[in-house]
Amino acid sequence: MSVSLDLTGRHALVCGASRGIGHAAALAIGSLGARVTLLARSPNLLEETAAALSSDGVDADFVVADLDARDDLMGRVDAVLEERGPIHILVNNTGGPPSGRLLDASTDDLVVAFGRHVLAAHLLVQRVLPGMAEAGYGRIVNIVSISVREPIPNLGVSNTIRAAMAGWAKTLSRELPPGVTINNVLPGYTATSRLDELKHAISERTGQTAAEVEAGWTAHVPEGRIADPAELGAVIAFLVSPAASFVRGVSLPVDGGRLFCI
Ligand code: NAD
Repeated sequence: MSVSLDLTGRHALVCGASRGIGHAAALAIGSLGARVTLLARSPNLLEETAAALSSDGVDADFVVADLDARDDLMGRVDAVLEERGPIHILVNNTGGPPSGRLLDASTDDLVVAFGRHVLAAHLLVQRVLPGMAEAGYGRIVNIVSISVREPIPNLGVSNTIRAAMAGWAKTLSRELPPGVTINNVLPGYTATSRLDELKHAISERTGQTAAEVEAGWTAHVPEGRIADPAELGAVIAFLVSPAASFVRGVSLPVDGGRLFCI
């Protein structure tokens, strides 16, 4: 059996693809030969990413949609299925919830985050699954967080929602048909606008400079640095490839060794 990363003939829908980890995932998946449909809210950034992919010879398009407006989202995904055919690869990814203590979060904060992460992913899986099952090939990757293993202080809503997402995905890994896998990627510190926002929020709260906050983070990472989003993209691309056919229901930290737990 040969090891294949070739995604020729496969169609990927990558959510939250306008920047950060989703953007890097779209580039990496495109580089393996898949057709890529990008999804996010900002048409300008999506257009730029689609143009970058196209200039590398990738069949790329985008759909402007908000994971918080799920009826509209489903209509737009139906249009993608109609125009660009079945989706074989789904990357569930979106912005992380704002920082703060869980005790200070309102129930609305929790409901919004649950909707954006779990409900949107659930609806998307239900919609794309028939095409995956028919093709005998499906790859679902959810971008979650290392907080699935170890809650992160002051990310109360995020910690709660990530655990829900992990339970949802593990359950589905037992229900999806053979050939259709679902896995979670757990990013550690990754250089994106999300991390910048968190860094400045901590800096304001603690009085540390942004550089001190970052040094405090990297001190706990055996690789001694923050990840480039492309390093996450590479792992996501592997998980959606034929080579990862027997990887199912895992939560894979991509954190430079930061987590202590096994
Ligand atoms: P990011 O904020 O840089 O990018 C998020 C992407 O999701 C963007 O394309 C944004 O436009 C899109 N998005 C946000 N809300 C949306 C909505 N309602 N509808 C559609 N698209 C929406 O984030 P990132 O750093 O790339 O992180 C991706 C995920 O990984 C997040 O859930 C984040 O919390 C998690 N994560 C990131 C890090 C890190 O260090 N960057 C660490 C752990 C977990």
